[in-house]
Amino acid sequence: MSIIYLDNNATTQTAPEVLEAMRPFLSELYGNPSSMHTFGGQIHRKIEDARSQVAGLINADPSEIVFTSCGTESDNTALMSALEINTRKKHIITTRVEHPAVLNFCHHLGRKGFRITYLPVGSKGELDPDLILKSVDDETALVSIMYANNETGVIFPIDEITRILADRGIMFHTDAVQAVGKIPVNVQETMIDMLSLSGHKIHAPKGIGALYVRKGTRFHPFIIGGHQEHGRRAGTENVASVIGLGKAAELALRNLDEERTTVSRLRDRLEQGLLAACPDASVNGDTQNRLPNTANISFEYIEGEAILLRLDEHGICASSGSACSSGSLEPSHVLRAMGIPYTAVHGSIRFSLSRYTTAAEVDRVIDIMPGIVKELRELSPFGRDRLTCPKQE
Ligand code: PLP
Repeated sequence: MSIIYLDNNATTQTAPEVLEAMRPFLSELYGNPSSMHTFGGQIHRKIEDARSQVAGLINADPSEIVFTSCGTESDNTALMSALEINTRKKHIITTRVEHPAVLNFCHHLGRKGFRITYLPVGSKGELDPDLILKSVDDETALVSIMYANNETGVIFPIDEITRILADRGIMFHTDAVQAVGKIPVNVQETMIDMLSLSGHKIHAPKGIGALYVRKGTRFHPFIIGGHQEHGRRAGTENVASVIGLGKAAELALRNLDEERTTVSRLRDRLEQGLLAACPDASVNGDTQNRLPNTANISFEYIEGEAILLRLDEHGICASSGSACSSGSLEPSHVLRAMGIPYTAVHGSIRFSLSRYTTAAEVDRVIDIMPGIVKELRELSPFGRDRLTCPKQE
């Protein structure tokens, strides 16, 4: 059975061109880029080429790119750096809907005595930038707000936020892991101090990421050891993956228009097809302002896990905002923060497309889904007539 992969916000397939670019660095080109010899120097130059490719995707200068092991490391590094260089300031502002890479690190910092403000979002997952203005004070070291949400795809007003923070001496970090490669991100136009990105969301392999650090931004490394990455991230480089990330960034830049037209058209076709064919289904998140590849749909009165299992039987991969399938014990903190009713959170499915998604795949999902929904509603103890909803928080 062939796979219909609609879980690209979880991870993406490695692009064939990326794999091809990486291959020599997993075999004959194995030198250490820090070595003095010509063999090592050759690898070093390739890493610098990859740095330029990654910089190109966000319009940064190559010197502003630090390679890391993943988006999570980039996020943790940005938060720690802001606190290390500003030891008198103990306050961080973030949102309730961040990825755990930021959210759980903030919980950790909260337990260590830092003060964390978690900004709420509206019912469409939108963020009111004025809340930031109301929350900053003399102790604020950092504002960390994601560029786009991984579950709903909702895009936050990063431009406006940076204008609000201008000249206040507060560091601004954005987790752009889901945004980069899907929508234009331009660090020349927006005063972002630090930005996280991750390879495996843009058709590079897992285990490689980058942190953009604006020139002139004071920085403290998270991983300390050797002098790699100009002392900003110790550890011998994951050379093949760095090369892969560079190639993936080059391809993402080239495909940005396609992402915004072809992919969003397919996403809309999927969404409209499902809403038309399945009663009691609704879209979560601001449909006017979201990533082109993401659709988060609630099928009320049924469990997301059950839907995923049925989809899986047809070789269709997606994600759910309900408890177990998201790998946590709690239903989606994002949908809960948006005040989505319990019955809808539990039946929420995230479909996330990529430039490899085809119209035939989308149409197959539209064909299959109504039968699954109907069958599960008939079976479910949450069936419409017997439904009892726990009180909302
Ligand atoms: N931030 C966001 C918004 C994400 O979606 C993810 C991954 O899902 C991460 C951070 C973590 O990235 P990585 O898996 O590379 O650690």
